[in-house]
Amino acid sequence: MISPKELQKYNTVFGQHSFDNHEQIVFCNDKDTGLKAIIGIHNTVLGPALGGTRMMQYENEWEALNDVLRLSRAMTYKSAITGLNLGGGKAVIIGDPETQKTPELMKRFADYVHSLNGKYITAEDVGMCPDDMDIVRDVTPYVTGISESRGGAGNPSPITAYGVYMGMKAAARYQFGSDVLEGRHVFVQGVGSVGEALVEHLVDEGAKVTISDINADRLIEVRDKYHVGVFKGDEFFDQDMDIYAPCALGATINDKSIGRLKAKVIAGAANNQLAEEVKHGEMLKQRGIVYAPDFLINAGGIINVYAELEDYDRQEIMRKTENIFNTTLEILEHAHENDMTTHAAALNIAQTRIETRRRENSK
Ligand code: NAD
Repeated sequence: MISPKELQKYNTVFGQHSFDNHEQIVFCNDKDTGLKAIIGIHNTVLGPALGGTRMMQYENEWEALNDVLRLSRAMTYKSAITGLNLGGGKAVIIGDPETQKTPELMKRFADYVHSLNGKYITAEDVGMCPDDMDIVRDVTPYVTGISESRGGAGNPSPITAYGVYMGMKAAARYQFGSDVLEGRHVFVQGVGSVGEALVEHLVDEGAKVTISDINADRLIEVRDKYHVGVFKGDEFFDQDMDIYAPCALGATINDKSIGRLKAKVIAGAANNQLAEEVKHGEMLKQRGIVYAPDFLINAGGIINVYAELEDYDRQEIMRKTENIFNTTLEILEHAHENDMTTHAAALNIAQTRIETRRRENSK
């Protein structure tokens, strides 16, 4: 039984802890297909709100709401800092993608996306694949991440990995005085699609790489392919390493891990790496650990899908992704000059870009 105090915390939508002046929140319900989804549109000053649709089971509907609020906000800042003319949005479909995802449910979801008239553009996220986006595309043009055979930009993970690699090199330049990673010890947590592609770049450059993954088969596969070291288990933070690259889940930078972390640089693909942005950003700063903000360096994926809207080619995608090196360096320097955390510095620059455009738009 939930206590009245707890209830107070939960029983407002606009009062949720992840609510940050979101422009619009759409609750989608369809009895026939069982669709229960929430579309969160955080900000559309720079352009239409683009962000993936995630399908998963949640403990309760509040958790789903907070997820979509948090993720859509992150998309706003990711696009803003990357210089894309996009706003931030995201959608969650509540349910098990293995057993509850049907073409009818996806079509009904697409109807809701279409009803927003392009204010929200969807894409793939956890629990979705290009085939699902193709179904959405049959109903609405407001979708990216469709299969290559239908004009999509293809798998974003190698591009994301390249952006992370660029961000990591910039952070190394800032921290160690050189962006050369040859001989540096990099610990990659999670060797899924992005993690593996990152390992390839690192091995090619001659870095010393250690990997971890909860999937033992994956761990062996990647170890044998790239001849890298492996670490089994979760207690790796006090291992010797120069760079920690979180490429699995979020919130691994937290009260427990920061004090033990031997790395001097954190640069990885996972979203929301800091369990608490302000507190843990500050703790890293105090310890002299350079944190390359996640939403900045993992933007390769969104650059890739943006190409579907702007119709630019592979070369332009790579050029924009490579530019993550320059942006990361600028942000680390901006943070140092203004005595702020790197996360706050990145947010600051993204917010300034949005504010400038807001003023221009209202002239
Ligand atoms: P993925 O699912 O392909 O890979 C994740 C890997 O992490 C899996 O191999 C999984 O077994 C492993 N893992 C899960 N929990 C772990 C743990 N506690 N310790 C070690 N390993 C663990 O996902 P991905 O597409 O490679 O994405 C990796 C991260 O980057 C995710 O957080 C994702 O949200 C983020 N991201 C991905 C993209 C993209 O283009 N794919 C873009 C931006 C951000």
